[in-house]
Amino acid sequence: MATDLLKRLGLADHPRVRIDGAGGDGWAVTENPATGKALAAVKLDDTASYERELAGAVETFKRFRSVPAPVRGQIVRAIGEEFRTHKKDLGELVALEVGKIRAEGEGEIQEIIDIAEFAVGLSRQLPGQIFPSERAKHRILEQWLPLGPIGVISAFNFPAAVWAWNAALATVCGDVTIWKPSLLAPLTALACNGIAERVSTSMGHPGVFRLVMGLDSVIGERLVADRRVPLISATGSCRMGKRVGQVVADRVGRCLLELGGNNAVIVAEDADLKLAVPAIVFGAVGTAGQRCTSTRRLFVHEKIADDVCRRLVDGYKQVMGKIGDPLSAGTLVGPLINAASVEGYKRAVDEAKKQGGTVLIGGEAVVREGNYVQPTIVRATAGNKLPIAREETFAPILYVFTFKTIEEAIELQNGVEQGLSSAIFTNNLLTSEAFLAADGSGSDCGIANVNAGTSGAEIGGAFGGEKETGGGRESGSDSWKVYMRRQTSVVNYSGKLELAQGIKFE
Ligand code: NAD
Repeated sequence: MATDLLKRLGLADHPRVRIDGAGGDGWAVTENPATGKALAAVKLDDTASYERELAGAVETFKRFRSVPAPVRGQIVRAIGEEFRTHKKDLGELVALEVGKIRAEGEGEIQEIIDIAEFAVGLSRQLPGQIFPSERAKHRILEQWLPLGPIGVISAFNFPAAVWAWNAALATVCGDVTIWKPSLLAPLTALACNGIAERVSTSMGHPGVFRLVMGLDSVIGERLVADRRVPLISATGSCRMGKRVGQVVADRVGRCLLELGGNNAVIVAEDADLKLAVPAIVFGAVGTAGQRCTSTRRLFVHEKIADDVCRRLVDGYKQVMGKIGDPLSAGTLVGPLINAASVEGYKRAVDEAKKQGGTVLIGGEAVVREGNYVQPTIVRATAGNKLPIAREETFAPILYVFTFKTIEEAIELQNGVEQGLSSAIFTNNLLTSEAFLAADGSGSDCGIANVNAGTSGAEIGGAFGGEKETGGGRESGSDSWKVYMRRQTSVVNYSGKLELAQGIKFE
């Protein structure tokens, strides 16, 4: 089945792919997390091939920046159409390589189509501004210009969409994209980048979409430190972001960091539990808890906590029977990405128990081929203390706490290092306004939803988070500005030279 899919996507006879999975020097083996077996091996870049890609990117940028933005938009439009054609196969490849269920794999490709549509519209805008000058017959203009070759570092858990969020916007902005994917999902990267580059080449613009694959110590670090790359957009763990941020700051480059989350849902006393419970279950269990926006902490009003826990356990019981092969119909929970993640899950559950937490359901690795674990709920006892909940464990573990007042709930929610996604369930205007307070005293996250869960963002809004999540924004709203450079111009049409601030220099 896998070989047929790789053939349909043009990967079976790709010069960088060995479908027999034979590794060796300069090759990385990519595994199917549902079986733990090799899917294929991919050829890694070395410093010489990296250098060729970078030099090529710099040259391509010099040409591509002169292509009018609406024409660049047409390239992105055609790429989006091509992804539409291959959505099913690419969704399956994502499922095979990172273990997402088929619907979520296809959803990821849908995000590529959505961001392409958004970028096409943007290609007719990229609006600058005009400001009044204090000097007569002068005008102040602000324009946005292409920035350069852009480095995109992506995490394993969104192996296609995150690249597309960056690449679609970067392309309409006139930039060339150099993608360094996770070595846990190199086939998805080869397939997606290949489609974009083929379409762009067929429209007369080769070299706009570039891929470098290699070890972090060889290729990743080189890209991050490369002065020819004015922007590094990096998605991944806080540990990675701290390193990347330091290296880019050292060369005074620009960083867009999309890092780890520790997302929480608050359930107020008046919440509609018919909405809250399924949203929490999807948020905590979906993608086997391997979304940056997965729900990891739950704060429930003490008066309804027992009822909410009972309902959640009932919901989880239904899910337990649907753990399995991500490509089988009816599966709701696929595997974790690798054996190390299973170990991380076990360590976190053990630690939670030692810290006084009570496992309400789950808590075990699933004994079968592949990297499966049970979705798990741990209820904090002993005065809400459960230090392990401050860490992002990339697995389906939900920690439950109680609160008395909304102020207390918001303080608890905000009391972690990360600040990506948050949600409140309430029908009380005052409670939801406290959560969204205009003075910033509510949720401190980049995403704050009311009566909707923490995960499943649409591309229209800007996506990203605060604190150790990195502060970057991708996707919708005015996120495009990070892929361009701003230029301010004073135009004097008075025929006289006049200095600002009334300065005389005669
Ligand atoms: P990771 O940090 O292990 O790796 C992410 C990427 O960074 C990979 O491509 C990796 O090769 C690269 N990398 C690591 N060290 C590097 C270095 N020194 N120089 C250059 N590149 C380097 O993360 P992961 O396990 O692939 O993904 C899971 C993490 O990503 C979670 O923490 C999750 O929350 C986060 N994530 C965040 C977002 C977001 O938008 N905020 C989205 C998806 C994932």
